[in-house]
Amino acid sequence: MSVRVRMAPSPTGFLHVGGVRTFLFNWLFARQQGGDCLLRIENTDTSREVEEATEQIQESLRWLGIDWDGPTSFQLDRMPAAREYADRLLADDKAYEDEGAIRFRMPDDGVVAWDDAVRGRIEFANENLADPVIVRSDGRPTYNFANPVDDMLDGITHVIRGDDHISNTPTQLNVLHALGAEIPVYAHIPSVLGTDGKKLSKRHGAVGIDAFRADGYYAPALMNFLALLGWSYDDKTTVMSPQELVERFSLERVVSSPATFDYEKLDWLNGVHLRALPVDDYARVLLTWLREQGVDWPEDRVRATAPLVQEKIEKLSQYPDFVRFLFGPVSPDGADPETCRAARQALEPVEPWRAEGIEAALRAFADATGRKPRDAFQPVRLAVTGSKVSPGLFESLELLGKEESLARLAAAGG
Ligand code: GLU
Repeated sequence: MSVRVRMAPSPTGFLHVGGVRTFLFNWLFARQQGGDCLLRIENTDTSREVEEATEQIQESLRWLGIDWDGPTSFQLDRMPAAREYADRLLADDKAYEDEGAIRFRMPDDGVVAWDDAVRGRIEFANENLADPVIVRSDGRPTYNFANPVDDMLDGITHVIRGDDHISNTPTQLNVLHALGAEIPVYAHIPSVLGTDGKKLSKRHGAVGIDAFRADGYYAPALMNFLALLGWSYDDKTTVMSPQELVERFSLERVVSSPATFDYEKLDWLNGVHLRALPVDDYARVLLTWLREQGVDWPEDRVRATAPLVQEKIEKLSQYPDFVRFLFGPVSPDGADPETCRAARQALEPVEPWRAEGIEAALRAFADATGRKPRDAFQPVRLAVTGSKVSPGLFESLELLGKEESLARLAAAGG
């Protein structure tokens, strides 16, 4: 039988990375198994007005590279069906009316248990479970009723969700038993904590997927990182493409202990993925990101900078400051005027204006004036780029062009 899972976000604002990690595990599992992955918006507790949040959720998932099968469904659309099932439970005396609401009748004794695909056997004693409201007095089903009814109607085979839902599972299981439904496999995956061991929150930095996107993370790198939050392929493989993740993912290798969201590791992984791109793809990724940020620097020039920056930056958001000098004027504050004047003279005869010739001229200039290369180059860098850190100096000068480079040195030379 083919597997069928669902990603079930509540439409409450932005998509949190912890939640997305759960969706990623669902998606990887479904794609690995050649099954279906549905997207169901759980709006029972919110409202019908979820269009904007839904659009945002879908856009974030698409950006990350997660797709889904069939149209997005909405829990509230199943309200009449949920009512029917509640009525059936009433008729069977498995539920009863209570002040206008409907309560589910929990079994009085015995246990409700399941073999969790991540955590092993979990049992709850029925006598400790209260009779939950399944339909409110206003007719709306509650979350703990709508959720398993949807799983039943959607033919879900595996419920892969955060371990904060373990406490809901006994109720949902008892509902499914009472309805005579097939019981899905449950896999409760570990929570994601910050490096301080606390629940991941804004305090730790970006937590919404949109913020990671704006911050210049490359989607396949973020996917790689998220996949490793609670899952591993073996004890040594870290860098994996989306395709490799799909090939290798398995629930057996999901652990139950909390995962740590390490921003440093994410930055490192982002750099690894970005550096591995063919330079044309890298340029395309840069351009896409710049356009998203509303930066409309000329495409040709951005492409020309790609080889200069690819080795140097980990996040796309580092790019604009790094190369701004190629797209507009700079202030040469602090560049030693005398060195700049002399360097300008040394560079004037360089023809053609290529990195190798520029480098040879500047090295000869340092030699001839008894300066250490670093002492000779730094004022030039400052005059031309306006910064002490820049892409390779000679390549930068080449790209900036002879006329502009000499003009900047002249401006700094007083
Ligand atoms: N809507 C729930 C949440 O956002 C998901 C519950 C489930 O996966 O069963 O936490």
